[in-house]
Amino acid sequence: MPHRSGRHFLQIPGPTSVPDRILRAIDHPTIDHRGPTFQALGKEVLEGIKTIFKTAHPVVIYPASGTGAWEAALVNTLNPGDKVLMVETGQFATLWHKMALKIGLQPVFVPGDWRHGVNAAQVEAKLAEDTRHQIKAVCVVHNETSTGVTSRIPLVRKAIDNAKHPALLLVDTISSLGSIDYRHDEWNVDVTVGGSQKGLMLPPGLSFNALSDKALAAHKTSNLPKSFWDWGEMLASNKTGFFPYTPSTNLLYGLREAILMLHEEGLDNVFARHDRHAEATRRAVRAWGLEVLCVDPAEYSSALTAVMMPAGHDADALRGVILDAFDMSLGMGLNKLAGKVFRIGHLGDFNDLTLMGTLSGVEMGLQLAGVPHKKGGVDAAMAYLAECATKANATKMAAD
Ligand SMILES: *Cc1c(COP(=O)(O)O)cnc(C)c1O
Repeated sequence: MPHRSGRHFLQIPGPTSVPDRILRAIDHPTIDHRGPTFQALGKEVLEGIKTIFKTAHPVVIYPASGTGAWEAALVNTLNPGDKVLMVETGQFATLWHKMALKIGLQPVFVPGDWRHGVNAAQVEAKLAEDTRHQIKAVCVVHNETSTGVTSRIPLVRKAIDNAKHPALLLVDTISSLGSIDYRHDEWNVDVTVGGSQKGLMLPPGLSFNALSDKALAAHKTSNLPKSFWDWGEMLASNKTGFFPYTPSTNLLYGLREAILMLHEEGLDNVFARHDRHAEATRRAVRAWGLEVLCVDPAEYSSALTAVMMPAGHDADALRGVILDAFDMSLGMGLNKLAGKVFRIGHLGDFNDLTLMGTLSGVEMGLQLAGVPHKKGGVDAAMAYLAECATKANATKMAAD
């Protein structure tokens, strides 16, 4: 492969590009994970990650991709044959459902059209029907990475409470944590599943379970087989800053840096930045005369935007042209959306000019690939970002 100058644009909705500060933090000799230097690191990241989930409860860190933490959430809280309520928001909800079947649960899968988030009224109705309380958990994906649709978790919580149902609430935040506002304790979530390679700006290889007292109580009686994923030994070792088996030491150095960076910017500023880039992206899409897959503006994802292709045009052909000509990777359509949509990731270590580069690559690619569209998407995004910057400047001047 010939060398390509400049940075590759990794605009898939995860893994996201890893900032230099995190790369440098990871570039560190591996240390004894039973020694005192590690213990200090372990304590620091185990405490620090709680501030990202917004929880005072323990967070378990696995040396695994997000899929591992999905499995951990299920096997630590449930029993064989338990009913769980899941909602088909897209490909990731579908994969979690498949996993639940494989490990011997009985998921009730509420069908969806892959353009909407979780319908809380539907969840409430299903739970109200379940008068014998056979459903033991409600499992939902906060930000459905395959569609660019974000579900409103407080509404799901309210649905469970309205039905006066004792089911646990399990939430996948793998592509929203560190990008979109999320509050584990305030929203009364029992297990939150997270991953390292999306909003947290780390390479793949770490995943998380944030817990609640109710989840810990369920763990005591849960008898699905588990060993590697067992919270019990993890939490016992974590008390002193250690892990029961070898942790991903170098990724934990990266995690420490990522937590620091998110707080230096301020979580609210991080979320506002993601909102701004998502809005600019949607303005570009509309100016091109294309359609955003997400139907309800209240569910627009600030982490990514899935764009529908005009009929008869293949999203993968467009992505191929863009990769070839401009060295930019865009997300593919997954499962039934294959070829029909492409996804623009605008999460993680990202700024206004990264977005403008990204959208320029898409607009040039549309032209190059002969996809019917109108000019002016980049201009529309640029006008919006300039307007935001002007407002931010005025606010700063007034404060000075
Ligand atoms: C990426 C992703 C996953 C899968 O995580 P892996 O790290 O690939 O195992 C699950 N759920 C959502 C919402 C995701 O975005």
